[in-house]
Amino acid sequence: MSNLEKTLSIIKPDAVERGLENEIKNQFLSNGFEITNEKKIKISKSEAEDFYKVHQTKPFYNDLCSYLSSGPIVVMILEKNNAILANRKLMGATDPNKAEEGTIRKKYGLSIDKNSVHGSDSLENAKIEINFFFKD
Ligand code: ATP
Ligand code: MG
Repeated sequence: MSNLEKTLSIIKPDAVERGLENEIKNQFLSNGFEITNEKKIKISKSEAEDFYKVHQTKPFYNDLCSYLSSGPIVVMILEKNNAILANRKLMGATDPNKAEEGTIRKKYGLSIDKNSVHGSDSLENAKIEINFFFKD
């Protein structure tokens, strides 16, 4: 059964800085995702705090928000059948050292904090995150 979904993906500063933007986009395209919207932006620390507010009680929250606002990022809406789960699978585990072979984080991630990509983790959060970056 078809279940076309949209999910929010971010290519994080560590990957943009290393020139991996096109390589990572090609991973999405070759795995059947359509990139329906995209923009390269730099967000402020307070925008990052707003975006990651689900993590505000975590010990790594401040570093995480400083990091996401430290340089340019590429935010994209990805569309595919079951896009949310499919993207989480393609990204791999949060810690690149624990990510499966062939996943984006295994290929490009440097560490648990510099793990190259973000992806929405549920239908509800995908809607919130898409609206956060693409309000129009
Ligand atoms: P993301 O939300 O970026 O797609 P995720 O859903 O795999 O990643 P979360 O638990 O939502 O993981 O954590 C958000 C981000 O916070 C992670 O991508 C990672 O960069 C950072 N993070 C998570 N756990 C830790 C940790 N123990 N130490 C440092 N940073 C962490
Ligand atoms: Mg998450």
